[in-house]
Amino acid sequence: MPRPILATIHLDALRHNLARVRTAAPDAKVWAVVKANAYGHGIERVYEALRAADGFALLDLDEAERVRALGWRGPILLLEGVFEARDLELCSRLGLWHTIHCDEQIDMLAAHKTQQPHRVFLKMNSGMNRLGYSPERYRAAWARLNALPQVEEISLMTHFSDADGPRGIAHQVAAFREATRDLPGERSLSNSAAALRHSADPDVRGDWVRPGIAVYGSAPDYPENDIAHWDLRPTMTLATRILGVQDLKPGDTVGYGSSFTAEAPVRIGVVACGYADGYPRHCSTGTPVLVNGVRSRLIGRVSMDMIAVDLTPVPSAGFGSEVTMWGRAGNGAVLPIDEVARAGGTLGYELMCALAQRVPVTVE
Ligand code: PLP
Repeated sequence: MPRPILATIHLDALRHNLARVRTAAPDAKVWAVVKANAYGHGIERVYEALRAADGFALLDLDEAERVRALGWRGPILLLEGVFEARDLELCSRLGLWHTIHCDEQIDMLAAHKTQQPHRVFLKMNSGMNRLGYSPERYRAAWARLNALPQVEEISLMTHFSDADGPRGIAHQVAAFREATRDLPGERSLSNSAAALRHSADPDVRGDWVRPGIAVYGSAPDYPENDIAHWDLRPTMTLATRILGVQDLKPGDTVGYGSSFTAEAPVRIGVVACGYADGYPRHCSTGTPVLVNGVRSRLIGRVSMDMIAVDLTPVPSAGFGSEVTMWGRAGNGAVLPIDEVARAGGTLGYELMCALAQRVPVTVE
């Protein structure tokens, strides 16, 4: 008998969220970002629901091969491009678009003998200072690529550092617009936050948007806005059951480090979920959970395999009752992953990606 813990991937929610991003940027094509194994959801699991995208954006050749193996014949973009010259061959064979962000990648391409010309996205570092050419060096890189017979099509891209926050994107949009002013080619600028918040501006929307986190049902600008505000739905539920019940007297403590002390009698349920399942260890007393779909809270520290929850709001709960750690409960109630992430000092991104191998996953 396996431990009673299960992650569920909701295909209806993935479809809904993808459509929602399209509504926000109606004239743009959508790269559904499926890097990091579709943000922990599993590329093979989400594929059917995300086939309505115009292309898939990801990191590894291995992930690209998996998407092709699923039958996808449309565009696939390698977001960081290739790192070894020999990978260009596979890139050609798989018909991938790849990002070019440095001279070494152009050198590799220039030396590459190919029958099939490459389609590339030339990346500008417009202020994030991660990957890409500075605005000053961008046009020279474009000219060099444009002179290569190996290159069939050059599209232009950048990535925002603060699309979700007060610093905003205006300085990056201006740098990108200025440096690309008379260059031909499609443009791609927006992640989820920019697509949802700023895509009324055609300079931001571009020809392709690249949403990841919004597709996976997390608000890119939480806590300023939540998924209800953006009309997004949870795509991953982590649910477990109560393994044991304890009745605490005033003065009793719970779990390692005795971080919680009961001030009054309280009934707690101990559930089969811990940090080894991917639940954040930094969560503690007060983090929300749903017990039989009713909002309650964690009590004490998260241990490797177990967590205690307060049964006060649900007196009928007991051995075997459903506890939703994030996502959608059996009664339809929702606990956004963002709320749990925030209580643990992290982001929905990290929780999804950190779902542990040992947790069984089902798709519905
Ligand atoms: N584009 C690039 C280049 C990225 O690195 C990412 C993710 O970090 C995305 C798009 C998707 O971002 P988000 O998940 O915030 O929508």
